[in-house]
Amino acid sequence: ETSEATVAVTGSGEDTVAAALPGLKPSGEPLVIGFTMDTLLEERWKKDRDLFVEAAEKLGAKVVVKSANGDDARQIAQAETMISQGVDVLVIVPHNAEATAAIVAKAHKAGIKVLSYDRLVTNADVDLYVSFDNIEVGRLQAEAILKLVPKGNYVYIGGADTDNNARQFKEGAFNALQRSINRGDIRVVYDQWSKDWKPVYALENMQEALAANGAAGIDAVIVANDATAGSAVQVLAEHGLAGRIPVAGQDADLAAIRRIVAGTQTMTVYKPIGRLAEQTAQLAIALAKGEQPVTTRRVNNGKIEVPSILLPPIAVDASNIDKTVIADGFHTREEVYGAA
Ligand code: BGC
Repeated sequence: ETSEATVAVTGSGEDTVAAALPGLKPSGEPLVIGFTMDTLLEERWKKDRDLFVEAAEKLGAKVVVKSANGDDARQIAQAETMISQGVDVLVIVPHNAEATAAIVAKAHKAGIKVLSYDRLVTNADVDLYVSFDNIEVGRLQAEAILKLVPKGNYVYIGGADTDNNARQFKEGAFNALQRSINRGDIRVVYDQWSKDWKPVYALENMQEALAANGAAGIDAVIVANDATAGSAVQVLAEHGLAGRIPVAGQDADLAAIRRIVAGTQTMTVYKPIGRLAEQTAQLAIALAKGEQPVTTRRVNNGKIEVPSILLPPIAVDASNIDKTVIADGFHTREEVYGAA
């Protein structure tokens, strides 16, 4: 790719334009992508940042990254700064799905298109949404646990209710459980969100669920992501129950994959972040150039049917860790199983 970039910047022949990287303007200057993120706390978001910057730079574009540390006012202010600095397109991972609609309106006023990354901005004229099929994430969790526990009492610990994804994960899980619930085979004995996706609230939720139902009253636990599943497993371990009650999580965090190897977590849902980052880099560049990318899906965000690309998530348990996360280089074999 280095030689291509050289041709594009320094070439003087007629074929210079044809050889230019997609992320370069006709002048040879890079297009600038503003990437406003909610947080870098969870393991995955650092991957998102690094892989997105890498993918965009490979295409010749430049990325300005800001993290709002879970603060809506800060995320809006950071985006305003990017808009006034004249970024060519805005890519946003909203902390709060509703509050960030203000950013979309402001960007559009300035003629800047907005792409929603992983999480959907709701009630706004978002130009494009690129994510995983998040309803499918919840379905995969529930189906995996249903196989082990076709009858019994379920605990559901959700994510942040301000995150559209958390609602979709829950919708997918409950859709899959519904028939068993209707038959009376399954009872959901506890169902709570964990504010801001904080593991400390998931810990409280799991403690509450145990206090209310007793160990004998809980047969399975579905938790919206791996960071919060870690809290659930911790509470179960404190009661000597880790590994005895199936637990589902999401993200294929290294700690979760290790828990799966150790037998204290049943499964996780792996979302290949590299693919999300690469697709988004290409599409953000297309938007910046005024192109309207072709999409196959539409997701309603309360205001419009947002043109969307939803990548498939993958269920991972002890049987396919090698073929999925390790084969993809998401984690190394040494990281997962320890040095040989
Ligand atoms: C993402 C998850 C992540 C969670 C907490 C969700 O929107 O889809 O992968 O674990 O946010 O950051």
